[in-house]
Amino acid sequence: MKRLFCLILAVCMVFSMTACGGEKVEVPDDNYRTYYEVFVRSYYDSDGDGIGDIPGLTQKLDYIQELGFNGIWLMPIMPSMTYHKYDVTDYYSIDSEYGTLDDFKVLLEEAHKRGINVIIDMVFNHTSSEHPWFKEACNYLKTLDQGEQPDAAVCPYVEYYNFNREGGSGYSVVDGSDWYYESVFWYGMPDLDLYNPEVRKELEDIADFWLSMGVDGFRLDAAKEYVTGSTSKNVEILSWYVDYVKTGYPDAYLVAEVWDTLETITAFYESGIDSIFNYPFGNNDGKLVSVVKKAGDGKSGASFATALETVESQFKETNPNMIDAPFLSNHDTGRIAGFLAPTQEKIKFGGALNLLMSGSSFVYYGEEIGMKGSGADENKRAPMRWSADGSEGMTNPPPNMGDVKQKYDTLDIQMEDVDSIYNYYKNAIAIRNKYPEIARGSQRGVTLEDGDIIVIAKTYGEEVTYVVLNNSEAEKNISLSGTELEGCKVKSSLVTTPSTQEGTISMEEDTLTLPPFGVCIIK
Ligand code: CA
Repeated sequence: MKRLFCLILAVCMVFSMTACGGEKVEVPDDNYRTYYEVFVRSYYDSDGDGIGDIPGLTQKLDYIQELGFNGIWLMPIMPSMTYHKYDVTDYYSIDSEYGTLDDFKVLLEEAHKRGINVIIDMVFNHTSSEHPWFKEACNYLKTLDQGEQPDAAVCPYVEYYNFNREGGSGYSVVDGSDWYYESVFWYGMPDLDLYNPEVRKELEDIADFWLSMGVDGFRLDAAKEYVTGSTSKNVEILSWYVDYVKTGYPDAYLVAEVWDTLETITAFYESGIDSIFNYPFGNNDGKLVSVVKKAGDGKSGASFATALETVESQFKETNPNMIDAPFLSNHDTGRIAGFLAPTQEKIKFGGALNLLMSGSSFVYYGEEIGMKGSGADENKRAPMRWSADGSEGMTNPPPNMGDVKQKYDTLDIQMEDVDSIYNYYKNAIAIRNKYPEIARGSQRGVTLEDGDIIVIAKTYGEEVTYVVLNNSEAEKNISLSGTELEGCKVKSSLVTTPSTQEGTISMEEDTLTLPPFGVCIIK
């Protein structure tokens, strides 16, 4: 009898969890997504060797899906000489530290089952100096007599890179010869000649290999250095690549790294690429961080909303179909929990600003639990903090990582705390997913009397939805009478400490009350 009762109770619990587990949201299957950037090495170790791996990431797909992400960007996974793998030795395989191609195919299948697209880092500004193309070219050059010119008919790889006998800025010497090669980042990363048709053919074949396997697109590394110093040539190279990929795979998603100003990024959009990371808004000196740092100054909120509108229209001038790619931090920048310290409220609010922008928002792994890390690159790529006891799946730190002090709890603890950064991110992504217009609407800044209030009008189809954010530490009573927001109703809200402030977002007779750093969706 007791067993029967337990069984009935268990069945009821399952039913009620399904019923109460939040409404099912259908997110459009397009390229406006919410991406999670993963450094596989520091994410989840499945076999206990201390190095995160592809099967480990596959095991955590449920976690990623529950957070609400529908895209992941994998930092390089191909064989490489370095821990970060931004120097590829073989474009057709998976680094053995991370697993096998079969492991990767399982990851793709499992991700797609969950509605998660997978894009991978495509690094072709340079190869590794240990790539067979480069090694063959150097071996051949060493056989030449002084003054003898190389013959590409003998060794085609001498024209894959930029070799000369003069050297110059950004050049390294070919050991044991009087030749130099362009290596803008480091001698271990020789730059490819992307104007060589044979190199382009190689890169087209590589794109085919991964896209036909089911990869959903690429993050293009270092597009600004394809031809260092020439935006017009870089745009030409990017146009060739975009055309090639989109002809064969119209749904593929391409996002480029162009770490530069608004003007340069705008020029790069002429290539027709879907997205370029929005550096003017990201990083510690970007607008997303600076507006939060200036919280409560009575003007920055309003000017942020206006800036959103200006930047979007500028990007659309060169590519009307562009999908903005905002982010707060990535593997090259310090982590945001450091920049927006000391208060957890500001960290959360910065996260919301990023996640409520139009386009595809990117979140760097660990950002959702307020991980810290700055200074040396290794510090920015610390092991994901799964649990307080540091056991299951935790990876070893990257080689030479410094002492990175963490302030916030590990994931297991944050999951149990309604006020945690984790739960705030989860709620923010849920709002992003619930209203397709947040990612897809065109943005317009609305200025109210109080300059701490950010109002972003999102026009999507015939409808206008307003995202209203209180960029201050004070509770605000905002009169909407006589503004275009008059008569709107609160549809969703997001507060930094729901355990104490639940229900404090309200609308009474066109007066909207927002707690410190409160956010709401109204229409
Ligand atoms: Ca491992």
